[in-house]
Amino acid sequence: MRSLLEKVPEDVAFLVRRLREKGKRGWIVGGCVRDLLRGKTPKDWDVATDARPNEVKRFFPRVIETGIAHGTVTVLVDHRPYEVTTLRGEGAYSDGRRPDKVEFVDDIVADLARRDFTFNAIALDPIDGHVIDPFDGKGDLDRGLLRAVGDPRERFAEDGLRVLRAARFSATLDVAIDEATLQAMSSDSAHDTFKKVSAERVRDEWVKSMTAGKPSIAFDTMRKTGLLGITCPELIESVGCTQNRYHSFDVWGHAMACLDAAEPDAVLRMSALFHDVGKPRSRAFSDKTNDFTFYDHERIGAEMADPILQRLRFSNEERQTIVALVRHHLICYSADWTDAAVRRWLRRVSPGLAPLLYKLGRADVRGKGRPVDDELANIDELEERATKLVADGTALSTRDLAIKGHDVMKELGIKPGPVVGRLLDRLLELVIDDPSRNERDTLIAEAKQILSEAEGSKP
Ligand code: ATP
Ligand code: MG
Repeated sequence: MRSLLEKVPEDVAFLVRRLREKGKRGWIVGGCVRDLLRGKTPKDWDVATDARPNEVKRFFPRVIETGIAHGTVTVLVDHRPYEVTTLRGEGAYSDGRRPDKVEFVDDIVADLARRDFTFNAIALDPIDGHVIDPFDGKGDLDRGLLRAVGDPRERFAEDGLRVLRAARFSATLDVAIDEATLQAMSSDSAHDTFKKVSAERVRDEWVKSMTAGKPSIAFDTMRKTGLLGITCPELIESVGCTQNRYHSFDVWGHAMACLDAAEPDAVLRMSALFHDVGKPRSRAFSDKTNDFTFYDHERIGAEMADPILQRLRFSNEERQTIVALVRHHLICYSADWTDAAVRRWLRRVSPGLAPLLYKLGRADVRGKGRPVDDELANIDELEERATKLVADGTALSTRDLAIKGHDVMKELGIKPGPVVGRLLDRLLELVIDDPSRNERDTLIAEAKQILSEAEGSKP
C-alpha cells in the first residue's frame, strides 16, 4: 500500500487529516483510486466524507458550493481545487438520468454500492492506506474485467449513461466486459434508459473514448450491444458492407482499423470513424471491373456526416472540419502530378486542412489490413511537395493575388458585383497554373482579355 500512498498529494492528506481532527472521515474514491491501482497518476482527486456539506464549509476557509444539492463542494487548498462529496446512498431514478433525491449516509460501503463499476467503487484512506473494496474491484482490474456493481440490469435501467461509460472504459482501460454486464447492456430496459441521455453527454463519452489506444473497442462494444444503432444508425449500414478485391475488411472493419490507426485527436478520429460512412449508399457493381465501386462516396459521406455531427452537438468548427476531412479524404496523388496540380489540390482542400488530411490519409491506408508502404510513401511525397509550395508563398486563394477587387473595378471600369469575384477566380486559376503571372500589369491585362472575351461571346 505504501506505493499507492506515495502518489497521493500532500493537499489530499491534509484535507483528510483536517476532517479527522473534526471527528469525521475522508477517503479518496472513484476514478483516482482506480487509476492509482493501475499504476497511473490520477489527474484529479475526489474525496468522499461522512461530514455534511455545511460542515465541510465550516472546516475549511475556502470552499466553493459546486453542487451542494448533490453533496459536493470544492475545497481550495493553496488555490488547488478538490471535490469533496458527502457519502450518498442510492435513491430511486425515475428519469434515467439522476436520482430523485439525494440521500446522505454515514456508511462508505453504501456510498460505494451506488457507483457504476466494481473498479470505480473502491475507497482508499489516504492517511493509513486502508483500502475498502467491497465488490472486488481490484480483483476485476487484475483480471482485466469490467463488471457492474450489483444487478447490472437494474443499474443500467436506472441510469442511461452507464452503458456508454462501460463502452468507454472497455476501450480506455482495455478491459473485457463481464458476460452478465454485457448482456444487460444489450437489454431493452437498458436501451430505453439510454435513449433519455442527452446528445451532449453522448458526445462527451464519444470524445473521451477517442483518447483510448484503440477506440474501436468502445465503438465495437456500442455496436454489439445495440447502443450505436440508437445513436447513429447510419454507421450500422457499414456493418457487413463488403468492399472490392483490394480491401481485407468490410466498411465497418476498415473504419475501426482506421480509427485505431489515427492519432488520438478527437476531430481526426471522428473523421476516421466517418470517412467511409457514404460507402454503403454509393456501392454499385461494375461489370467492367467485375467488382464493387463506391463512386462519389466521399461527397455522400460528407452530406451524411454533417447532420449526424449536428445531432451530436459538435461545435460548428469541429463539424465543419470533420465534414471537410470526410469530403476530401480520398487523396488520388501520384508522382506524375505537376506542381500546378499540387497547387490545385491545395486550393480545393484549403491549405489549412492539408496537414490533417495527410494524417487521415495515413490512417486510412494503415487501416486496410495489407502492406501499404508504397501508399504511405505516396502521401509523404505529396506532403513534402505541398508543404514546400505553401512555404514558397505560392498564391492559393484570391487574397494572394497581386491585384484586389477594387483594382479590377477601377482598371476595367466595372461596378461591384459577382462578375468581380468570377474574374478574380479566373485570374487565380491562371496564377495556379503559372505563378510567374502573379504580377499587377500581367493580371490587369489578363482580366481585360477575359472580360472582352466574355462580352464577345454574349449574343
Ligand atoms: P474519468 O474521470 O477518468 O472519466 P471516473 O471514473 O473518475 O473516470 P467520473 O465521471 O469522474 O469518472 O466519476 C467519478 C466516480 O463517480 C466514478 O468513478 C464512479 O464511482 C462514480 N460515477 C460516475 N458516474 C456514475 C454513474 N453514471 N453511475 C454511478 N456511478 C458513477
Ligand atoms: Mg474522474
